[in-house]
Amino acid sequence: MQKEQNTSLIWFTNNLRTHDNSTLTKAIANSNQVMGLYCFNPNHFKTDDFGFKKTEKFRAKFLIETITDLKQKLSQLNIPLFVYNKKPEDIIPQLVTKNNINNIYLQDEWTYEEVETFNKVKRQLPKHIKFTTSYNQFLFHPEDIPFTINQLPKIFTEFRKTCEKSVRVRPEIITPTNQAKNLLIKNETIVPTLSDLGFEDFEQHTNTAFPFKGGETEALNRLQDYFFNTKKLGFYKKTRNGLLGKDFSSKFSPWLANGSISAKHVYYKVKQFENLYFKNDSTYWLVFELIWRDYFKYVSMKFGNQIFKIDGILNNKYTWINNQEEINNWINGKTPEPFVNANMIELKKTGWMSNRGRQNVASYFAKSMNLDWRIGAAYFESLLLDYDVHSNYGNWMYVAGVGNDPRDRKFNVKLQAERYDSNGKYQRLWLQDTLF
Ligand SMILES: Cc1cc2nc3c(=O)[nH]c(=O)nc-3n(C[C@H](O)[C@H](O)[C@H](O)COP(=O)(O)OP(=O)(O)OC[C@H]3O[C@@H](n4cnc5c(N)ncnc54)[C@H](O)[C@@H]3O)c2cc1C
Repeated sequence: MQKEQNTSLIWFTNNLRTHDNSTLTKAIANSNQVMGLYCFNPNHFKTDDFGFKKTEKFRAKFLIETITDLKQKLSQLNIPLFVYNKKPEDIIPQLVTKNNINNIYLQDEWTYEEVETFNKVKRQLPKHIKFTTSYNQFLFHPEDIPFTINQLPKIFTEFRKTCEKSVRVRPEIITPTNQAKNLLIKNETIVPTLSDLGFEDFEQHTNTAFPFKGGETEALNRLQDYFFNTKKLGFYKKTRNGLLGKDFSSKFSPWLANGSISAKHVYYKVKQFENLYFKNDSTYWLVFELIWRDYFKYVSMKFGNQIFKIDGILNNKYTWINNQEEINNWINGKTPEPFVNANMIELKKTGWMSNRGRQNVASYFAKSMNLDWRIGAAYFESLLLDYDVHSNYGNWMYVAGVGNDPRDRKFNVKLQAERYDSNGKYQRLWLQDTLF
């Protein structure tokens, strides 16, 4: 294909990697010169309707590390990454004019805030600017699933079984290494610091179960370690309900959430592991969980803003309370349930909580305290290192009885604590400061 005689812009959002990145590959293939952009959008650091900062310090630091790594990785492809602490709609029009850009490449998104930002940018630009978007966050590509979005099965198992039978995960996209060398654009932008984003610097908690950094390099190292060096993948199904330490589960979620590792890459590495060593329930189960991740993306695609509504996608009416004192007790680990408290303290101190913990604290919040589940979800959104709009709201709706589970279930947190923390080690770890 004839290369266009101009510069293309890759607007990076939640696709912060150089491997298996269709946006990056398309931009390189169709342009003489490519420049990258990442915006630390001030809207992402604002206070939300429930009084939480949309992004707290944990994810902010992780993002800084991610962008620092991406900048380095892109420089190896001779692509400068321009980084701004500004809204995309305020900076993209300037970049377009200054660099004579005609083409903008980005990942396809469909949730409210992302679409709103995209539309704001589009409105500011001349009509001839061409946008090329592509889906690159799925395991099963939207064009390959065997139903229209309106026909998406209500139940995960049906979605999974149908897709497993009929969809082939697309091959990973190879990133070309021959990006033109005639780079004329000077990049004087720098990655913001935590203080630029309004936070004080801090050290990772010594007991964190997520002792990693942001960025593609670290993500790929973690995969290498969890799969190939230690072969922990081979035990995943037995350990995945764990609470302590870095290896009970893959810990891929923060990197998957901002796209510094691709779901397809993880999938093909599972296949490689199975070919090299063995295939068992555990190797299958990691892919099973990635299908859950896909499912929640399709749920949000189908239901749009309903995923943020109190009655959820089931339109189920419950009586919800909004009691600030109770909410604070939950946040600060001061409920009558030590298991809930330990998990909430872990989240507050590290930005991480296990899946078992999340299910328990969310169920306790929504089903025992009867508090408006959207407030719990907003708190998770603020604190979690791995916040992902689809997985967070999908899981919260599910647990609150307004999502993809027609049963209205409630966790017995005492029994859960006995089962998953029988010797109390986990609870002691996080409650010790509050006991003495
Ligand atoms: C109330 C609640 C809120 C949640 N919020 C988020 C969120 O904001 N972001 C997020 O990534 N996950 C969320 N989860 C799902 C799950 O808890 C995390 O994905 C998981 O704990 C991450 O740890 P891991 O990477 O070690 O997962 P592993 O067990 O190693 O699983 C591998 C990958 O599969 C995916 N996965 C696993 N479980 C789920 C699940 N239940 N739903 C969707 N995808 C899953 C993740 O991408 C994960 O990285 C939430 C769960 C609950 C109950």
